[in-house]
Amino acid sequence: MTEIPQERRVVTAIPGPKSVELQARRLETVAAGVGSTLPVFTARAGGGIIEDVDGNRLIDLGSGIAVTSVGASAEAVVRRASAQLADFTHTCFMVTPYEGYVEVCEQLAELTPGDHAKKSALFNSGAEAVENAVKIARIHTKRTAVVVFDHGYHGRTNLTMALTAKNMPYKQGFGPFAPEVYRVPVAYGYRWPTGAENAGAEASAQAIDQINKQIGAENVAAIIIEPVLGEGGFIEPAKGFLPAIAQFAKDNGIVFVADEIQSGFCRTGQWFACEDEGIVPDLITTAKGIAGGLPLSAVTGRAEIMDSAHSGGLGGTYGGNPVACAGALGAIETMRELDLNGKARRIEEVMKGRLAEMQSKLDNGDIIGDIRGRGAMIAIELVQSGTKDPDPQAAAALAKACHAEGVLVLTCGTYGNVLRFLPPLVIGEDLLNEALDVIEQAFGRI
Ligand SMILES: *Cc1c(COP(=O)(O)O)cnc(C)c1O
Repeated sequence: MTEIPQERRVVTAIPGPKSVELQARRLETVAAGVGSTLPVFTARAGGGIIEDVDGNRLIDLGSGIAVTSVGASAEAVVRRASAQLADFTHTCFMVTPYEGYVEVCEQLAELTPGDHAKKSALFNSGAEAVENAVKIARIHTKRTAVVVFDHGYHGRTNLTMALTAKNMPYKQGFGPFAPEVYRVPVAYGYRWPTGAENAGAEASAQAIDQINKQIGAENVAAIIIEPVLGEGGFIEPAKGFLPAIAQFAKDNGIVFVADEIQSGFCRTGQWFACEDEGIVPDLITTAKGIAGGLPLSAVTGRAEIMDSAHSGGLGGTYGGNPVACAGALGAIETMRELDLNGKARRIEEVMKGRLAEMQSKLDNGDIIGDIRGRGAMIAIELVQSGTKDPDPQAAAALAKACHAEGVLVLTCGTYGNVLRFLPPLVIGEDLLNEALDVIEQAFGRI
């Protein structure tokens, strides 16, 4: 394995000449619908660094969208996946099984909240996990309706597009969408009309009232929510909201699904973000951080719910691929050994401290309307000075200024005005502080 020096280095324009050349080739042959945040072509990546084909080293505050929490070339992931590659690449678990799949399900049973009997099924992508959670909830409850929330994101397949809140770019022109999907309010504290302190109680009451009046609780198979909403803008539902919704689901025989695809596996400083308010979901969907960059996803939950589907009803050719399972076991081993929950909490402390300082000391610091998130899932919401009007241009300009200086940041949010930070949990503190210096300087350039 190659050790990549953990230092930022900008030796060409970003993107550099080789990236520009590759981008021209890419535009000839890769479909336009597949975009890239920053068309810098990667040569290698690891720790907190992405090295491009021109020799630039970027500080990675994206982790490939919350995937490479253990780094993009973590030793245990590379070692275990390489060994598995040499043994066999695939048999299809539905044809002849293998131990790695079972081991991943054992780990999921141990790590996810609750001490009830649990079972899992493995898939390839996050969207596939969410779709399967819906299948399982429907067959278990013999009901059809699915409740999701404002600002929610659950994927790009047909059913998960229907579950996703935001039209552009995820849904525009791609309908018709799957039926029996209903959207209700979420407790978005910063934008709640009567104030953040009322958001938890009022939003949960409104959501429950809408479910009762518009759908009928007895028709609802599943309520699906991200315990920290990701693409929608790193929104932590105000305290009290998640417990109220989970209790409502319990009282009405509805399967409560926590979509932890972005927030899970140490990202928020806990194994799963729903632990923060002591929520024990009936089902939990995981992907992204689970396997150190290899494609794997899972639905984990109460054994009696998971076992509702008949044999052969769940699965897929590649679901729980042996190399991806080996990667997951390596990633989980790394999370335990390096105490990545502790690392994530430390990242929160450093980032929130520095961002609050920028908010108060910079001339244009008041465009930072809100600083939020948990662990290494931190964001700033950008607004027009002195208002709460979203400022997506400021988010785009800040991202661009950071990219030019070799710091990879991502934007998100329903209004496109959120700058989000998802560093690998193994990033060095010096590198993190250097990235924050660059972010601070970027405010002076917009
Ligand atoms: C990314 C994401 C998904 C979709 O995962 P894919 O692997 O891209 O299909 C679903 N839910 C949440 C919360 C996500 O962040």
